[in-house]
Amino acid sequence: MILAIDGPVASGKSLTARLIAERLGIVYFDTGMTYRAVGLAVIRQGIDPDDAPAVIRLTERLDLAIRCVDQAMRVILDGEDVTDALWASDVAAVTSQVSTIPRVRARIVEKQREAVRSLDAVVAGRDIGTVVFPDAVLKVYLDATADERARRRYEELRRKGVAVSYDDVYRSVIDRDKRDTQRAESPLVRADDAILIDTTDLTVDQQVDRVLGSLMAQMSKQDDTDIDVQKKNWIAES
Ligand code: C5P
Repeated sequence: MILAIDGPVASGKSLTARLIAERLGIVYFDTGMTYRAVGLAVIRQGIDPDDAPAVIRLTERLDLAIRCVDQAMRVILDGEDVTDALWASDVAAVTSQVSTIPRVRARIVEKQREAVRSLDAVVAGRDIGTVVFPDAVLKVYLDATADERARRRYEELRRKGVAVSYDDVYRSVIDRDKRDTQRAESPLVRADDAILIDTTDLTVDQQVDRVLGSLMAQMSKQDDTDIDVQKKNWIAES
């Protein structure tokens, strides 16, 4: 069973997805980390992110494994667990560039599908409901105004002790939105059958409740012959 949660940067999708996975006792998979692994490798190997053929060659020979440890995904690059290094500030901008390259995406999507094969998971990203898992049992698209998303990211960075200005964070949100929505391959777009939740004025608890409410509603619409009845009961109890 896959729950797909898509949305732009800082829309609340990662935190919401993680909390829902915890509530349901299933795996949480933030697919941003798989593209970030490519971004990190590009930086480490000193490749120019604008040099698409070089980035493609690197991605194709990359020894990249995604492992599930204690219901969370870890990224192993060339035998090293690099999960904690993926959120360094220089990785985000390079990642946003390299993830526009179609052949990079094709390779990474394969890895994402492999990683959750036979698992129940809440999968967060940009194209999960449209491309990676179009048959997800529930598709949610979280959104919020650019101001609110920049404010959240700014506060998060300040809490981590990173010295940034709000204006720089706002500009970076706008730049990443532009790249995510305008790329030719798998752009960020709401799937026709995804439920839209605007999180601008919602607390995290309210976001989680809305998504779980949508899941319940979706499950009750389905025929018991189509859906594992045990799973339905287990969601109702969560
Ligand atoms: O969500 P996060 O900020 O970690 O994603 C890093 C980058 O990876 C994003 O800027 C986006 O361009 C890319 N990404 C993507 N498709 C996904 C997940 C992330 O293109 N499913």
